[in-house]
Amino acid sequence: MTARRFWLAFTTAAVLGATPAHAYLKFGVEVGGRTVAVRWAPGPIRYFITDREVGGVSAQAFGDAIGRASATWSGVPGLPVSFSPQGLTRSQPLEADGRSTIGFLDRPDQERVLGATTFLLDATTGALIEADVYFNTRFRWSTAAAGEVGAVDLESVALHELGHLLGLGHSAIGETELGGGGRRVLSSGAVMFPISGPSGSISDRVLQPDDVAGVRDLYGALPADDFGSVQGRVTKSGRGVYGAHVVAASLESGELVASYTLSSTGEFVIAGLRPGPYILRVEPLDDADLESFFGAANVDIDFAVTYATVIPVVQAGGATSPVTVEVRTR
Ligand SMILES: [Zn+2]
Repeated sequence: MTARRFWLAFTTAAVLGATPAHAYLKFGVEVGGRTVAVRWAPGPIRYFITDREVGGVSAQAFGDAIGRASATWSGVPGLPVSFSPQGLTRSQPLEADGRSTIGFLDRPDQERVLGATTFLLDATTGALIEADVYFNTRFRWSTAAAGEVGAVDLESVALHELGHLLGLGHSAIGETELGGGGRRVLSSGAVMFPISGPSGSISDRVLQPDDVAGVRDLYGALPADDFGSVQGRVTKSGRGVYGAHVVAASLESGELVASYTLSSTGEFVIAGLRPGPYILRVEPLDDADLESFFGAANVDIDFAVTYATVIPVVQAGGATSPVTVEVRTR
């Protein structure tokens, strides 16, 4: 039936990690000359938990943490998919067995990778066959309700990885700085930001507006009557800019939702916005994180942070007239 199968993988960089060394992001897969979004058919997403205790985290505690993270995603209004635990398995993540398997895996070779999500897709239709998630045993993990100093919060990383499993790529809403042996997160406005917060932190157990807008957009779960979008183009000397990060900040609620320009024409659309006025900020992607977003060359990062000179007002059920943001070389 299937001539070929292929894997996609997303990884999450560790606390104080450097550039995510194994990360590559695809927003879709090419099937027969067209691009198909990676997402699940409506209905339950069945998954298995590995029967393995690691560093004091029992299979039961592990499964409970995955259950809490999956319930957080399932709580997003209007999603046509849900998570359905199928119990324990002796399979390992990364085994292509038709089962979606979530568990610990020994990856001493990936010293900065906390976890990763991989997909097995039907190469002729692009349909998802399975998705596996692993958590690297190289780290100390915790499922403590209040978090644990010196350990990584399993539920927080699970929420990020399950976002990948649903088909989301990385969000660039966040800032990092280099210092003392690695890259440190200064602020993060999305669970799908690719670099984890400090150990012991449990702040990523909660979805941010960008995560919710992203998953609702991916699954067509945005009621046209309630939300709108802003669209436009990022240019430099009049020519389109590829890979620019465009952030819409609501003047009323302060919520941030972002997108990218995904072609050389520099066009962007940010969907899933509540009606109201928005400030648009265009910024280059952090060069240290480039490969975790695009994995490809040609992303233009040589321009200064620029704000749109107009304040578009999003109407429910429609898109704004196109906003052009001209940036300059920095
Ligand atoms: Zn990730």
